[in-house]
Amino acid sequence: MRNLSIIILIIIAISIWETVDKTPPEGLKAMVADSLIQNDTEKGNTSMSDKSFSCEEDWKSKLTPEQYSVLREKGTERAFTGKYTYNKESGIYKCAACGNELFSSETKYDSGSGWPSFWNAYKSESVIERTDNSHFMTRTEIICSKCGSHLGHLFDDGPNPSGMRYCINSIALDFEPKK
Ligand code: FE
Repeated sequence: MRNLSIIILIIIAISIWETVDKTPPEGLKAMVADSLIQNDTEKGNTSMSDKSFSCEEDWKSKLTPEQYSVLREKGTERAFTGKYTYNKESGIYKCAACGNELFSSETKYDSGSGWPSFWNAYKSESVIERTDNSHFMTRTEIICSKCGSHLGHLFDDGPNPSGMRYCINSIALDFEPKK
């Protein structure tokens, strides 16, 4: 109930902001998305905050079964099987579910893990980190900040300058080559 009140207050704040023809700060948008996703998660509901998709049935009709398994059910594609693991083209990697810009080829590197790896997100607000206690271990899950879809996990064994490794499923991404 308290969460709901906070979300309503934030939505009202954004509405007021937009009526004076200003764009709400990206940080505030990310906070709202996070609140909505967290609220859904607490209810045991993985439905999206993105208005264009209202229920899991919508996702099933939009995504392939393999995409649905990873993006909506937190699955993992088999290592070395993804189409972007060794992609070296310049461009932007977008969320396969909603098109949100997630990663740049400029931060992609070969981690040897068998999954596309990046040392940073495209923008700090592109993705959200979430604690994942599944499979008898504690990891940091990476989800799309716009639609809440599962993308992969974050590890602290990456290269400089961040030292981080965003280990992402190819099937959760759509690559847009640089023009
Ligand atoms: Fe997304």
